[in-house]
Amino acid sequence: MLTWLKRVVLALGMLLMGVVLVVYLALRPPRFSIPEPARLEFLGVTIVNPGEPPLVGRRVLIEGGKIAEITEAADGPHRGKFLLPGLVDHHIHVSLLSDHAGLLLLRHGVTAIRDPGTPGQAVMEYRKAWRQGELAGPRLYACGLPLEGDPPTFGGALVVGTTTLARQRAMEQVAEGVDCLKVYNTLRLDALEEVTRVGKRLDVPVVGHVPVAVELGASGLSAVEHLTGLPAPYTELEARTEGLSGWLVRFSEADDARLRHFARVSAAQKIAHTPTLVLWHAMHDRRGSSEGAPKEHALMPSFVREVLWDDAALPTYYRLDDRGQAALATMLARTATVVQALERAGAPILAGTDAPTRVVPGHSLWRELSLLEEAGLSAEEALVAATVAPGARLAPGKLGRIQVGAFADLALFANNPAQNLSQLESIEEVVVAGRRYTRSELDLMVRSSLEHYDGWFVSRAWAFIARGVLRTMNAQVSAPAP
Ligand SMILES: [Zn+2]
Repeated sequence: MLTWLKRVVLALGMLLMGVVLVVYLALRPPRFSIPEPARLEFLGVTIVNPGEPPLVGRRVLIEGGKIAEITEAADGPHRGKFLLPGLVDHHIHVSLLSDHAGLLLLRHGVTAIRDPGTPGQAVMEYRKAWRQGELAGPRLYACGLPLEGDPPTFGGALVVGTTTLARQRAMEQVAEGVDCLKVYNTLRLDALEEVTRVGKRLDVPVVGHVPVAVELGASGLSAVEHLTGLPAPYTELEARTEGLSGWLVRFSEADDARLRHFARVSAAQKIAHTPTLVLWHAMHDRRGSSEGAPKEHALMPSFVREVLWDDAALPTYYRLDDRGQAALATMLARTATVVQALERAGAPILAGTDAPTRVVPGHSLWRELSLLEEAGLSAEEALVAATVAPGARLAPGKLGRIQVGAFADLALFANNPAQNLSQLESIEEVVVAGRRYTRSELDLMVRSSLEHYDGWFVSRAWAFIARGVLRTMNAQVSAPAP
């Protein structure tokens, strides 16, 4: 090659590398100094394990990221304050913006989450980064990629049209190190049975949406999302044609006998339900991107509100027609009856939010607890659904209850939220795996993270990236048949 041409190519190459580096550095979220797991002592504190009488005047010693000792101590600096197990969001998605979500979760006392299946590789990376203290965030249990029928209703799912593929993909997911396997709307019964067989053999719980054509009692699922499984089964073709609107209509038309059956089967098979009431309300309100949005939306970067929460971003399956909108209103009016039926039958209810789908990580869990209370649970029962109950599922003896040997995942409050959920606002400190954060530290971190994401260049770049990701995901979903 001619010397001058070589020089030009070299110069252009370096320029390009320079641009890539600048963009990379500009997009990198701010790094914060993360506290090391410390020896911590809460002296004179009242322990509140939801569902049990409070233990007044205790000393809780934390060492090596675990609760090392609990003894009596009538007095001390934490006298009059309330120590609760950190909250668990049992349905939340880890995405590319989870640097920010991690901070918001801790700020609201959420120290553990379960991701019930999210496309992409971000989930496993965050699980590691949060665990190792490279980033501030909760303990994460991850289901990997959702498994769905062919064609899928959700882009980014692992499409398994045959039993052989179902078995293979499920085993691959387990080999990747997932904590649970998630199944989705259009998975066929024979494929689902393969997945639950793999789950049983390798001791990995199978959870998710009850596929539309499958009876709850025959699903073999241990945890069910969004109250799926209540409508009587219908075909995958009907599901693809009618979309979510059709499901909502069927939900709102399910009669009392069907509801009793749903509750009875759930209790008998110990199937836990995560109703995600806050998600259904947010969909109903549809105020994601418009004015008059709830004030907590200001906690999210602008590109999330403007791009990800825009109706235009929804895959076809999730766009509601007029019938769907009307059915959603009916469904919301019925959720209290459903929640009460489950509670009365003795089926476990777990608090989950589906954040960041139109709801704010952390804040949405507080709201879910209020909605569970409105649906008929007491404040204390609602808190059980975000501590003891999910803990017993995700890590028995370690998570969701303050006891010796458990993870040091805690939240300290000035007033007792088990008596009044509005006292969640009185949160003062959060401990996750022995790392202690004060409320004001977390407020500062959230603020500087928001400043980063809302910067002129960064917000535009993320909006561009988010649009591209959505386009790719939605292209994988077939449009409903005419
Ligand atoms: Zn979800």
